[in-house]
Amino acid sequence: MNYSLLNDVIKEFLDDSNLKLYLDNLDEVVRLANIIVENYYDTDILTYDDDILLSQSVNISRNFFLTISDEYSKKFDELLSSNDIYNGVLDNIVSFFKVPKKLTYQFNRSGVDEDGRVFIDYNETLEDIFNIVHEFTHRFSFIKNNNSSLKKFFGETPTILSEFLLEEYLLDNGSFSKEEILKHKINRFKGVYDDSLAIIVQSILINLYRQNGFVNEEILLNYLDSLDKSSKLYEILCTKSVSLIKEIIKREGIDFYNRQRYIIGLFCALNMMNDKNIINFKILVEVLKNDDSTTLVDQEKLRQFIPIIGCDRLLIDDSIINSLTILFNDEKNSFDNYSRRKI
Ligand SMILES: [Zn+2]
Repeated sequence: MNYSLLNDVIKEFLDDSNLKLYLDNLDEVVRLANIIVENYYDTDILTYDDDILLSQSVNISRNFFLTISDEYSKKFDELLSSNDIYNGVLDNIVSFFKVPKKLTYQFNRSGVDEDGRVFIDYNETLEDIFNIVHEFTHRFSFIKNNNSSLKKFFGETPTILSEFLLEEYLLDNGSFSKEEILKHKINRFKGVYDDSLAIIVQSILINLYRQNGFVNEEILLNYLDSLDKSSKLYEILCTKSVSLIKEIIKREGIDFYNRQRYIIGLFCALNMMNDKNIINFKILVEVLKNDDSTTLVDQEKLRQFIPIIGCDRLLIDDSIINSLTILFNDEKNSFDNYSRRKI
């Protein structure tokens, strides 16, 4: 293992003052990541069985947005049929790219770029509907040159909420089997599990670097040795930490601040599904359009249904951890039968 490169990567990260906001909140994010690692397990990515034409996925997505509001279904159609000028060339705002069926979420390059163009990878399965709804939900909050602090933490909250709402919609209205519909959520949990592990390992490395001024094999082994040997964390770190550290070295990057949005999004979306208040989705989408000049007012609005927002930082106390752990386990148990059989 190239520890010298690893130390360079960590040092560069810690020296970047733009990333201070993330570091200040890292311990809180790790508390959330621990809930997932303690209560979940590694799974395979599930692939889909049913074939669905892209046109059908688009129609279902539109009908789903209609259940939230007229405004979103209109906006959906507007975006689909509109052009804009990108680098001097007129082009569609939304572009679809067909990809092989086997490429599921790890290879999904769908997204909204900094100009607001929407790219959707589709493979003619049920995943396409989740994908379309997810990316359009991002697009509804899109404002050029705005990456507010709230967006850095809560940018994936409306999108994951939209996936959960879509799941309910499909269970109530679609002709797809429950098993097929739940695959998306099981894959989402798997993705967030991977993110949680990566965040925990990165935070351990950062803390050890801060304590010692560097990290090497001896320091890492001593740290492992100090853990409770019967803990799940010890077991996972023994098997996974080497490959996760190698990945940091290979990519030359600490990326927990990109990954944390999915963990925060998962918990906030679970909490909001519990409230069953569709207005919260709209408030969230609207608030994420704002820049930092409105942060305090926006925090106040979101605090009603997102319990982890403190004043200008994440605030996660033991009672929040307890209630989120219960929510997480309830959700996990509700689809456990579907995922266990595939392990
Ligand atoms: Zn997203």
